[in-house]
Amino acid sequence: LPKRLQGGKPSVWNEYIALAMQYKPLNLGQGFPDELPPSYVTDALADIAKSDNPMLQQYTRGYGHVRLVQALSKLYSGLVKREINPLSEILITSGAYEALYSAIMGHVDDGDEVIIIEPFFDCYEPMVKMAGGVPRFIALKPNKSNGTVSSADWVLDDAELEQLFNNKTKMIILNTPHNPIGKVFHREELERIAALCRKWNVLCLSDEVYEWLVYDDAKHIRICTLPDMWERTITIGSAGKTFSVTGWKIGWAYGPANLITNLQLVHQNSVYTCPTPIQEAVARGFELELTRLESPDCYFNSLPQELKVKRDFMAKFLQDAGLKPTIPEGGYFMLADWSKLGNKIDLSSEVDQHLDYKFTKWMTRNMGLQGIPPSAFYGEAHKNLGENFVRYCFIKKQENLEKAAELLKKWK
Ligand code: PMP
Ligand code: GLN
Repeated sequence: LPKRLQGGKPSVWNEYIALAMQYKPLNLGQGFPDELPPSYVTDALADIAKSDNPMLQQYTRGYGHVRLVQALSKLYSGLVKREINPLSEILITSGAYEALYSAIMGHVDDGDEVIIIEPFFDCYEPMVKMAGGVPRFIALKPNKSNGTVSSADWVLDDAELEQLFNNKTKMIILNTPHNPIGKVFHREELERIAALCRKWNVLCLSDEVYEWLVYDDAKHIRICTLPDMWERTITIGSAGKTFSVTGWKIGWAYGPANLITNLQLVHQNSVYTCPTPIQEAVARGFELELTRLESPDCYFNSLPQELKVKRDFMAKFLQDAGLKPTIPEGGYFMLADWSKLGNKIDLSSEVDQHLDYKFTKWMTRNMGLQGIPPSAFYGEAHKNLGENFVRYCFIKKQENLEKAAELLKKWK
């Protein structure tokens, strides 16, 4: 094995998808909707498949299908209030995954430090290591434990964050709305991060794949819109999350041309170009939404409305079952503290090292309900911080959420 891959293990996704295939539990694990996406999105793909334009079935522009980068440029130019060049400031990637990969590979050099906020979407750490970088972790921690806990109660310690920055720091990876906590970083929190980025001349890689999914009064703020942050921020989005088509695996990165060009280099030497029909369909989806961004019918407004109901339903049934949820301000995941149930289950037959792995595997086998163990989202030294929790996904049919509620009632 080359040095850059040493110590690598199958990810939690590979392990838990195999587990789900074996035990066929009600799956609230991996994040994806179990209902059909909006029909205009899939109809577009069907039309494209039958189109008499032969070019729609052939390679398209490597850095991104023109119709799609144009639609994205229109959308984000409006949102970030600056003109985004569709050809030089946007790259279309194979899911947000590849946008992360190209941004990290395109910027991180041997020995560069990258600050990662825990818990984190699990691929950040191995990607940084593959690039030769050194991950430096800082954990979000809940600052309260009684009463209702919201994702807003999970915070960074300012002094600890400040200490992590030094002249080897190349990049900080931010994820807002956050997976798995559901935290939507508030303006003051982003301003603190931005100030440190400016002070230490650090890049910000902002993973915003859940940008449309915010609830109640939470507001998604793009860190690239803060003063002097455009120049140092690469922002990432995902068609899978935006249009509920996670299997389409189209994502993008946008930012200043001098940074995006480095991602383009990685992309041209690995993926080269993403599927044309899918990019065309996503472009048509954005074109429609662009005509109704302010309307409640816009999918970016109607989906969070629907999800808020599911979030509240899940929070209630978890609470009733004795699991203590953190109410997410955004995204489609919920963390719940299961430690109070410890005396109702016997985990002694489970062989995993971490308690949350034991708990989630036991649940899959014995109760037919699957969640994700959050310690997968921490660096080795902090895995204990995730062990009392389980992550459930709530972008699921009401019928399935009700089944999950029924399964958990056994513990009443
Ligand atoms: N970042 C986060 C925080 C995610 O939850 C996901 C979902 N897998 C991704 C990136 C990757 O998105 P995609 O499916 O578009 O590759
Ligand atoms: N983002 C999704 C999740 O967190 C999917 C992860 C994946 O497929 N790797 O569950």
